[in-house]
Amino acid sequence: MIIQLKKNIDATTNSKLKEALDGQGIPFYPVSTQLGNYLICTPKGDFDIRRIGQLAGIMDVHRVSGNHKMVSDKWKVDRTIIDFGDGVQIGPNDFAMMAGPCSIESEEQIDATLEQLVKHGVKFMRGGVYKPRTSPYSFRGLGIEGLKLFHQKCSAKGIKIITEVMESSQIEPMLPYVDIFQVGARNSQNFNLLEALGEIDRPVMIKRGISGSIDELLYSAEYVFKSGNEKLLLCERGIRTFEQVYRNTLDLNAVPILKEKSHLPVIVDPSHGIGIRRHVIPMALASVAAGADGLIIEMHQNPEKAATDGQQTLDFSQFDELMRKVGVLRELIH
Ligand code: PEP
Ligand code: MN
Repeated sequence: MIIQLKKNIDATTNSKLKEALDGQGIPFYPVSTQLGNYLICTPKGDFDIRRIGQLAGIMDVHRVSGNHKMVSDKWKVDRTIIDFGDGVQIGPNDFAMMAGPCSIESEEQIDATLEQLVKHGVKFMRGGVYKPRTSPYSFRGLGIEGLKLFHQKCSAKGIKIITEVMESSQIEPMLPYVDIFQVGARNSQNFNLLEALGEIDRPVMIKRGISGSIDELLYSAEYVFKSGNEKLLLCERGIRTFEQVYRNTLDLNAVPILKEKSHLPVIVDPSHGIGIRRHVIPMALASVAAGADGLIIEMHQNPEKAATDGQQTLDFSQFDELMRKVGVLRELIH
């Protein structure tokens, strides 16, 4: 059960309410976010929702069985819209296209990518400055200096930045330069990082773990939400299976399931999802057909020379083709 408290609830009413819940043997967990104050209740047996709804200080009460509470679609009438406050939104009526290199490498690379994004009216540029690499000897990103350059270039063109944060200590220095924090697959269950991201007022996109289940992804989102941040996006990026022919198995079943279970926007990353450049476009289109609220695509002016993930990175003419086909498909299915 989720109890939404009245905005102006006073301390006395609040404690009386908690006493009443105690009296009925209902355990509760207070949650305060950017948008409201809630009591997340986990009653063991049955309870009379009418008796609870009558208590003072309550705006609304929702029966949410199951273990995902705040991210569940069972209590929010409307789907979550991520609003950047300047006319840019992500949500059911605003498909989010995010594209750019796996890693930020140079000023020339940022300039070339931005030109390509502006040409297509794309609002979000991706690019890692902190790269989780399997080998410690691989390129691990340009760090905060790279992010500052990335931000300077993007803000001049009105393009927003999505980039990965790998640990809590990076959040504060990165904050002035980031529009969406990406939690990578390897950090999907780094609960300390998720809680720290819950304490800031900035959208967070959580990628599904490398061997993560759908429920585990939802629990990860629940961690951020219950820590205070409702501005959340989920990302399907492929999971590890027995199949060795491609890099990951893009689980498009996750798209309708996540959208049914939660009110959060679902973004698909077909680049990591299949890991093979020539197959990224069809998988991107399949993601749109499956109901994705957006795509995150790796793109580079010269993928062969990309510092990371070149094998799955589209060149500019392939990105042109993708944009054209996504436009046609969205027209057809909406
Ligand atoms: C990336 O986006 O470049 C990345 C490292 O993604 P993932 O965490 O899904 O592997
Ligand atoms: Mn990558």
